[in-house]
Amino acid sequence: MLLVQDMKDLKGKRVIVRVDFNVPQKGGVISDDNRIVAALPTIKELLGKGARVILMSHLGKIKHKEAPEVVEEMKKKNNMAPVATRLAELLGQDVHFVSVTRGKELEDAVASLKDGEVLLLQNTRYEKGEEKNDPELSAYWAQFGDAFVMDAFGSAHRAHASTYGIPEILRKQGKQTAIGFLVEKEVKALKRVVEVKDEDRPYIAILGGLKVSDKIKVIDSLIKKCDKIIIGGAMAYTFLAALGRKVGNSPCEVDFFDYAKKMYASGKIILPVDSVITDDFDNPKTIKVVEGDIPEGFEGVDIGPKSRELFAREISRAKTIFWNGPMGVFEKDEFAVGTTAVCKACAELKDAFTVIGGGDSASAAKKLGFKEKFSHVSTGGGASLEMIENDGHLPGIDVIG
Ligand code: ADP
Ligand code: MG
Repeated sequence: MLLVQDMKDLKGKRVIVRVDFNVPQKGGVISDDNRIVAALPTIKELLGKGARVILMSHLGKIKHKEAPEVVEEMKKKNNMAPVATRLAELLGQDVHFVSVTRGKELEDAVASLKDGEVLLLQNTRYEKGEEKNDPELSAYWAQFGDAFVMDAFGSAHRAHASTYGIPEILRKQGKQTAIGFLVEKEVKALKRVVEVKDEDRPYIAILGGLKVSDKIKVIDSLIKKCDKIIIGGAMAYTFLAALGRKVGNSPCEVDFFDYAKKMYASGKIILPVDSVITDDFDNPKTIKVVEGDIPEGFEGVDIGPKSRELFAREISRAKTIFWNGPMGVFEKDEFAVGTTAVCKACAELKDAFTVIGGGDSASAAKKLGFKEKFSHVSTGGGASLEMIENDGHLPGIDVIG
C-alpha cells in the first residue's frame, strides 16, 4: 500500500485528502481540536512536495430525510467554516474555504488553487449522496483530484463517496492513491492485535461497556484470536444471568443468553466475581459490594474489589492487550474504580503491546490519566472495532490498494 511519504511527482498536482475534521463544536467554537492537529503531518508532507491540497471531511450528522427546514438547521449547526479558521492558525498559512460542496464557487476555487496552497470544502454530508456512495457525486468530486490520500481513520469503516467512491475512481484512472500518516499508524498498531504472533502471547482482550448485542461480531472475532477474554461492564450481567445468576435490575439482554452460554463454553471467558451495586443510579441511597446474586431493586454499576484483583492478575500475564469498553459507569467517579484498576494493570505491564479501541474507552483512559501509558489509543472508535471484526480489513483502506 502506497504511503503519503512515498508519493512521487506531486508538484502542481491537486491531491484530495480525506481527513477527519469531525470535531466537537458548538456555535462555531471548537472545544477539542485534536483531530485537526492529528491531520497536520500529512497535510504538511503534501505541501512540502508542492502539491495543491484539497481537504474533505464530514462534520456531525445531517439527516436528509427530515423536512427541508430541519435539514437547513442541521447544516448550519455542522458548518465546516470554523474548522478552516482553526486549521489556518495551526498550519500558519491561509486556508481557502468553500462553503458549498458543489457548483461554480467550488470549481473556481479548485481551478485557482496554487502549488503549496490548501483548500477546505464544506462538510461532505451536506450532500445527500455522500453516505450512499452515490456514483454521480463520487465522479463529480473525483474530477478535482490528480491523486488521493486517505487519512480519516475514524471514517475508514464507511464506504461513502468521499472515503470510497473518489479513491475507487482515481485508482481505476491509474492515479496515485495512498494512506496518510495517521492511518498508517492505526493500521500498524491494530494489525498487531488482529494477527498475534506466538511470541506475543498471552493475548488478553478486555471487554466491557453496555451491550453484548453491540459487540457480537467483536466477541466472535476475538474468541478465535485471544487466549482469554475478560468481561466487565454492563455486558457481564448478560453472561452472569445466562449462567443462572440473579442480576437484579442490572442491564441484561435475555435474547443473548444462548449466545453468551455458547461463548462461555469456549473456556476463555473470565467474568466478574463481585459487583458494586446501587439502589438508585442517579440518587444512590445505598452503594455496596455483593458476591453472587444481586438482590432485586439493585443494579450493578462497576466490578467489585475481588474482580479488580482477579482481572489485574490475569492482565499481569499478558503480552498483548486489546481493551474495549469500560468496566463500570466510569462517568461517575464512584463507579470508575474498576475501570481505573484495569487501566492501572495495563499500565504496569512491561514489554507488552496494549491497545485501546472504542470511543468511551479512550475517553475513560484519558479522564483517568492513563492514556499515555498505552501503546496505542485508536482515534477511531467504530473503525477500530470493525478492523478487529473484519480481520484487519476496512473498505476505506482496502480501496487504496
Ligand atoms: P466504547 O465506546 O469504548 O466502545 P461502549 O459504548 O460499549 O464503549 O460502552 C460505554 C458505556 O458503557 C459507558 O457510557 C458506561 O457508562 C457504560 N457502562 C459500563 N458499565 C455499565 C454498567 N454496569 N451499567 C450501565 N452502564 C455501564
Ligand atoms: Mg461508545
